[in-house]
Amino acid sequence: MNEQLTQAQETKTTEIKSKTCAKCAEEKPVTEFTKHKGYKDGLEAKCKTCRSVYRTTGKGKALQALHNTQRRRQNAETELGEQLLDTLTTEEVEDLQNEPECAYCQTQLTEENPVTLDHVIPFKHGGANEYENLVACCRSCNARKRDGFFFEFLRDNFDRQAELRFLLLLIERYNVDLSDLVNAETITQAAEATNEEPTEEEEPSNGFEWKRLQLSSARA
Ligand SMILES: [Zn+2]
Ligand SMILES: [Zn+2]
Repeated sequence: MNEQLTQAQETKTTEIKSKTCAKCAEEKPVTEFTKHKGYKDGLEAKCKTCRSVYRTTGKGKALQALHNTQRRRQNAETELGEQLLDTLTTEEVEDLQNEPECAYCQTQLTEENPVTLDHVIPFKHGGANEYENLVACCRSCNARKRDGFFFEFLRDNFDRQAELRFLLLLIERYNVDLSDLVNAETITQAAEATNEEPTEEEEPSNGFEWKRLQLSSARA
């Protein structure tokens, strides 16, 4: 951490002994507030108790998940040496976190089977941090798919119906007609029709890019 900033922060915080929480309006000792250089007095506006309550709310959870995606996007950018599109908002994350079932295996998403966010096109392959590139899925599917291509993951783990269902979900997301998208019946066929099987070593698959272009151009 920047030493000068830390010092400035400490100088500021020693000036006051207590602070009124922006949420519960109680005056509490400064030790009840987390240090945060973004604030004038170097302390969070809400006390620690109020912040821990907030983190369990829908919006708090969404904000935390959003920051996670942004951090991962930044890491990917460093690795790739290129910038990735990022338009994701807290509201969109909250929307995804409220999805009732996993986009891949369709299990119910509950507290015991918590929702995670999956980038359909992984950052590694140039995927954007945007609503259109995200689905809600279970931890198990997310862990198994990892940085792979979604059509490979679907093909290797699920039946044809699941593939079609997922394709329809994407179509719904992108708000396009099936006829506008592909003539192939499944994502796998679409990928095969435009390119050889994509492998780990290859550049982002052309089939993949092709579909992405189709999706982008078909979007309103
Ligand atoms: Zn408070
Ligand atoms: Zn799943």
